[in-house]
Amino acid sequence: MEKLRLGAQKLGIELQPAQLEQFESYYRELVDWNRRVNLTAITDYAEVQLKHFLDSLTVARALAEPAGKDIRLIDVGTGAGIPGIPLKILWPEIRLVLLDATAKKARFLHHITAQLGLDGVEITVGRAEEVAHQPDYRERFGVVLSRAVAGLPALVELTLPFCAVGGRFIAQKKGDIEDEVNQASRAIDRLGGKLVGVEKIDLPEFADQRRLVIIDKVAPTPEKYPRRPGIPVKRPLV
Ligand code: SAH
Repeated sequence: MEKLRLGAQKLGIELQPAQLEQFESYYRELVDWNRRVNLTAITDYAEVQLKHFLDSLTVARALAEPAGKDIRLIDVGTGAGIPGIPLKILWPEIRLVLLDATAKKARFLHHITAQLGLDGVEITVGRAEEVAHQPDYRERFGVVLSRAVAGLPALVELTLPFCAVGGRFIAQKKGDIEDEVNQASRAIDRLGGKLVGVEKIDLPEFADQRRLVIIDKVAPTPEKYPRRPGIPVKRPLV
């Protein structure tokens, strides 16, 4: 995990030996399970360290270090746990919900969180469009994260309903995203969000340009959002 350790240092993060061991087991289990369950296209040891683990930790750039145990974070469309699990390894005190529509991926998430000894992780199987209407989830999170799930106009409909007013949504994006961000401005506004900015992540570890789109929740989301499963992606609020 040397590449991860050095990359994290450039983000101002000193990973401890016990944390690096957790990442090492995460890597081994991910690659092992990936033979049976489709979890990731990236399996090379160096690439997983950078493209999955370090990339997840870049989110810390847009968050204050969580104070106390009251911070509740949800990772929408977490897949194999990215970026939620790396952040949980970084900040063991956070309460984390990993949400994904696929039950097979959830089986891996149960396995890996037990294996890594992570407490305070809830694994929820379901579509964001439905789960976001449940009272225990709606506007209950101080931090909402999502990587590689949908284009920003649809994505904000899948994520901002989870975010408490005063909370923050961070989307991980790649490349030139100015148009995508502009296209999402109506959706952001409708859902009660306010664009704070786009943070560039320029680390030599990444060949491509990585961005964090930072959106604060400033007003409640109207009850009708998110719309029915599939509709946010099919007919984004542009
Ligand atoms: N965030 C992970 C996985 C990205 S793949 C990573 O960056 O590696 C997209 C994941 O989002 C898939 O696992 C898929 O099942 C999930 N997903 C897509 N749409 C969803 C929705 N509407 N609700 C919940 N999960 C969804």
